[in-house]
Amino acid sequence: MMELDTGVNSSGQRERELSRMERIGAHSHVRGLGLDDALEASEKAQGLVGQAKARKAAGLIVRMIKEGKIAGRAVLIAGQPGTGKTAVAMGMSQSLGDDTPFTKLTGSELFSLEMSKTEALTQALRRSIGVRIKEETEILEGEVVEIQIDKPLGTSESKTAKLTLKTTDMETVYDLGSKMIESMSKEKVTSGDVIVIDKATGKVTKLGRSFARSRDYDAMSGSTRFVQCPEGELQKRKEVTHVVSLHEIDVINSRQQGFLALFAGDTGEIKTEIRDQIDTKVTEWREEGKAEFVPGVLFIDEVHMLDIECFSFLNRALESTMAPVLVIASNRGITRIRGTNYRSPHGIPLDLLDRLLIIHTKPYTETEIREILAIRCEEEDVQMTEDGEKLLTKIGVETSLRYAIYMITAAALCCAKRKATKVDIEDIKRTYALFIDVGRSTQFLREYQRDYMFNEIGADKDDDA
Ligand code: ATP
Repeated sequence: MMELDTGVNSSGQRERELSRMERIGAHSHVRGLGLDDALEASEKAQGLVGQAKARKAAGLIVRMIKEGKIAGRAVLIAGQPGTGKTAVAMGMSQSLGDDTPFTKLTGSELFSLEMSKTEALTQALRRSIGVRIKEETEILEGEVVEIQIDKPLGTSESKTAKLTLKTTDMETVYDLGSKMIESMSKEKVTSGDVIVIDKATGKVTKLGRSFARSRDYDAMSGSTRFVQCPEGELQKRKEVTHVVSLHEIDVINSRQQGFLALFAGDTGEIKTEIRDQIDTKVTEWREEGKAEFVPGVLFIDEVHMLDIECFSFLNRALESTMAPVLVIASNRGITRIRGTNYRSPHGIPLDLLDRLLIIHTKPYTETEIREILAIRCEEEDVQMTEDGEKLLTKIGVETSLRYAIYMITAAALCCAKRKATKVDIEDIKRTYALFIDVGRSTQFLREYQRDYMFNEIGADKDDDA
């Protein structure tokens, strides 16, 4: 039987953490679903506003996934454009935590990748299944561990960084080679993290955040932070667990360069035989108590962009014992199922619709729009006068929430140009005049349709997506 390389300690975790890198993106203000223990949604929490029913329903799904109660189920988040479907899915991802895989895909992406649609879907499904592997790791023993990294990692200075690790019994200084620095790069290990070094291999393992949080941190001094572990704790950590996805195991075992293939981006198609061997091996580990499956979530946005082949493939895939939870979102009404001449709700075939749990998102009230815009201003570090907020809210109500959100950055630039500190009505008016919203754009097209090529207004109204 083949020996599997799981890339644990190096590749798997690194890729997952890189994929979770946060920037100021459309949903970076969303930090969770904002629910209490009874799964009740407060009006505004963890970056989410309103949409209480949808959040509660999503929270229930998250809870069932965490408790390992569901896998192979499908959930549809349906609602008009800009009603927070993706935001709710992102909230689910955050509440699931780092150890549960969450893969995000947009329906249209499947048609632009350099592989077949079904291969792309298979990879996405396998990315969403984690394998928790228990590893016996020989770790340094002692009552108190002191970790010092003499330079902040992830900077050009850190090329020569040294890491000192002290226990009650010994002190070891590691020269962080460039590879190791890479593996501990900014997003991964900084001087405040709890890490363990395997004496035999020199491999650095970052311990989970919850584990790190359970320790008492001493105050930071420069880039050095001391981590104190209560007596005996380190002994218990001799068994270290990692979660890698099935797809990561597939890639590592199907490419000559092993885990480095994960960074090349182009993973290419993977042979069915390799996947079968991996499934058999992982199942064997599970039976031996060395590993367990962690069903995660595959989120497909704009699901109406999938065609009948993809839908039937997904239907079948959900029946596998190793299926993740499928969360799909659509803003379409009754529309044509791509690849057929049939119409159905959301452009989804009836057999898949039949197995869906459906969560609805509803349009926002004026107050909710104002709250969301305020959160976005905070996220983008933009200060706005009260009048500015009122005007932007009015625009959000009359055009769309998304248009109003996009105006924030542009208005802040206008504000900076006139050397003011708070965005005011005049900045918003300027932005409104510079960038038109869909309503005005459509109006313009209607007025000047004759001047455009391929004018089809009033022709075929069929929604062909
Ligand atoms: P579409 O159907 O067009 O894909 P959608 O329903 O997925 O739209 P989102 O993209 O989630 O809508 O929402 C638009 C913007 O508003 C995003 O930046 C999102 O983070 C934000 N947003 C939406 N709903 C909420 C909410 N309840 N709380 C906070 N932010 C929200």
